Amino acid sequence: MEELIGWAKEIRKEFHKIPEIGLETVETVKKVKKIMTGFGFTVIPIEKNSCVCILKKGKGEKVLAFRADMDALLISEETGCEFSSKNEGCMHACGHDMHISMALAVGNFAQGYDFNGTLIVIFQSGEEGCDGSEVMLKEGKLLSKIPKPDLIYGIHVWPEFDVGTTVLTKGPLMASSSFFQLQIKGKGAHGSTPQKSIDPILIGSQIVVNCQSIVSRLTSPFDPLVLSVTAFNGGSSTNVIPESVKMMGTFRSYNDQLRIRSEKVFIKMINNTCEMYGATNKIKLKGLPTTTNDEGAIDYIHDLAKEVSKKIVYDYQTMASEDFSLFLHKIKGAFIFIGCKNEDQKYVNKLHHPKNLPSSNALGYGIKLFAKIIEKHLK
Ligand SMILES: [Zn+2]
Ligand SMILES: [Zn+2]
Repeated sequence: MEELIGWAKEIRKEFHKIPEIGLETVETVKKVKKIMTGFGFTVIPIEKNSCVCILKKGKGEKVLAFRADMDALLISEETGCEFSSKNEGCMHACGHDMHISMALAVGNFAQGYDFNGTLIVIFQSGEEGCDGSEVMLKEGKLLSKIPKPDLIYGIHVWPEFDVGTTVLTKGPLMASSSFFQLQIKGKGAHGSTPQKSIDPILIGSQIVVNCQSIVSRLTSPFDPLVLSVTAFNGGSSTNVIPESVKMMGTFRSYNDQLRIRSEKVFIKMINNTCEMYGATNKIKLKGLPTTTNDEGAIDYIHDLAKEVSKKIVYDYQTMASEDFSLFLHKIKGAFIFIGCKNEDQKYVNKLHHPKNLPSSNALGYGIKLFAKIIEKHLK
């Protein structure tokens, strides 16, 4: 096992050097396919630049799946580490290089282990807001190409926790989210004659303020909801009221119904506010469900996690979201966090930060847990 973990640490460096964005994980998936084929897996390409790797041994009917995401972020790396990104402006700042490495280590472990059943390892592109799992499940028709797994697990490294920590949350772990893009079109005018304009900045500002009433007055305080306007762009001069403004933002909740209801109220509020002033609008909204862990899937691995980890954290939740949620809507399973805090002071332990470098020492905890799950489920 120690040799396998050492191998995974080296492989992680290779993938850290070649981060790729969104659904365009071309080189990454090419490398993955080569390695997994070498381990005896049947590798099936899936839309878009994802792949699924299948290995069957013995006569067992059980089917176990693991999923790793592979994409990186549009961030210029500032870690200064010896295996820094070679792709200018791109960086594995969310630890997906760690996930690839752990999933490949599962393949490496499985080639030499005499299990009984079917093991499926899924490598997914486009997790970071690019609909990767949706594309894979819909257009790639993933589930028609594989035997249906009885259980699926995914792992995310989490820098808030020390190496050796495993997070086992039953129920909602990560939030349901929606992202919106809004354009308000009014009428431009000279800044000295606002009566001749339909001022999209004023209308947009009222919308920003009213968003917070959706949170504070239309939602129970016992049901967490976050609504953040994260971009507000319009105008370019001190004396011109612009024709239009563009806004962006996000909803987060642990309750899919609440999110959907809030989106409806939000759209109504925008339409009514625009109508009141004679403005028009275009709105695009896209949502992801809550990442909700199956209680049975957590219970199933509890003792295994205890055996391999230094510490277990229960009931942790975050308002971040994750498209593994779509897998959990179709297959029983769970998403696990493992601590990856880097003790070296020169790094910043925050995902999506240019100085974030998850500790390679976390890899062993994920790999051992995956190996234990194979031993238990495919015996
Ligand atoms: Zn991320
Ligand atoms: Zn991530």
